[in-house]
Amino acid sequence: METVLVVGAGQSGFGVATSLRDKGFDGRVLLIGDEPGLPYQRPPLSKGYLAGTAGDAQLRLRPEDFFAEKSIELIPGRVASVDRDGAKVVLEDGSAHGYDHLVLATGAVNRVLPVPGSTLDGVFTLRTKDEADVLRSALESAENVVVVGGGFIGLEFAAHAGRPVTIVEAQDRLMARVATPEVSAYFAALHEGAGHTILVGKGVAALRGEGRVTEVELSDGSLLPADLVLVGVGVEPRTRLAEEAGLAVANGVVVDEHLRTSDPKISAVGDCANFPCVQAGTATRLESVQNAVDQARAAAAVITGEPAPYDSLPWFWTDQLGAKLQIAGILTGAEKTIVTGDREGGKFSVLSFRDGVLAGVESVNRPPDHIAARRLFAADPAPRFETLEANGFDLKATFA
Ligand code: FAD
Repeated sequence: METVLVVGAGQSGFGVATSLRDKGFDGRVLLIGDEPGLPYQRPPLSKGYLAGTAGDAQLRLRPEDFFAEKSIELIPGRVASVDRDGAKVVLEDGSAHGYDHLVLATGAVNRVLPVPGSTLDGVFTLRTKDEADVLRSALESAENVVVVGGGFIGLEFAAHAGRPVTIVEAQDRLMARVATPEVSAYFAALHEGAGHTILVGKGVAALRGEGRVTEVELSDGSLLPADLVLVGVGVEPRTRLAEEAGLAVANGVVVDEHLRTSDPKISAVGDCANFPCVQAGTATRLESVQNAVDQARAAAAVITGEPAPYDSLPWFWTDQLGAKLQIAGILTGAEKTIVTGDREGGKFSVLSFRDGVLAGVESVNRPPDHIAARRLFAADPAPRFETLEANGFDLKATFA
């Protein structure tokens, strides 16, 4: 293998390039990215970077000299197409680069709100550093801020915006897709305590204004004054290159347990990849740093000839209003929950069970529980309800 070419210089693309070097790969590593500047991490964009407590240095994944030291060729530009027969990619500027193995690490794009007025001035989404910069300066003069979508991005934005905002959520609770009702309720109370208004069970019918947004019209016809609207309604995987190259695509680029696409010379990792998730028991696309980093490492192992089926435990964190939520495992489909710790005091964990087996653990301000949950899953990927019950639902005692 002489040349590995990675499309997308985000968290997972950067991870593939560095993991290849960590594993001793001595061929060429090309990392092509269409965002300006050096590869950076996104989590601070909706946290410290938005609040102004973290700067460029905290975003950057590595300083510039690291790439030269590791002989990782950073190539700015957007890949326009993949020529599988010719084993090369063609950039928008017409230049071409050959590969022996190709990795698609193209991430995702923010979903646009499918209502009139979604492109008015004053309507923002948050995924890139450029978007965070524009949003940060717009916040300085905004008076009425409305967040559409009560998921992680919308809530982190609300938590770090430095002013009361109104959060509009179509589901009947916050973070409904990813957290249990117990955790949703805790974070709703936290946001209300900080002065935010939460409107659940409300869709957005339109964004109104002449050129600039001035109002949000809700599905019940009511109007909210707004001069800044942050839309956080999820993402779509960036799959165009894969689709046009004839690779299998279904809610992401379809990969096998070795993160190989339907063409064994091409892998896909991170937010853009739909992989057979052991913990979910089905094909899944995850959007997290853990998933990006671990899949990058696993894809590099495949390329360097040490393939092992990808089975890393999914985990995630979010920071809001001084509270830290950490999630280990996959909660989807869980039918039974047990709360441990001090819910009123804001230090508790929720254990979720699916078919009598521990599926996931959410820890609110209880990092030791999160670590214990990850260790428990490492020791036993399917801990049974009865085993935990016998240990008083003490995670640490269960794996010790
Ligand atoms: P990305 O990081 O999106 O990288 C993909 C890159 O590929 C982008 O730079 C894109 O521009 C580039 N690209 C795409 N197509 C092309 C092309 N044709 N040619 C060249 N380049 C291309 N996760 C957590 O676990 N915890 C958090 O607290 C957390 N906070 C977050 C906060 C924000 C604001 C956001 C947006 C995400 C957050 N995440 C968090 C999620 C996490 O950042 C993502 O899951 C992770 O970045 C995914 O990495 P990736 O490499 O797959 O995609």
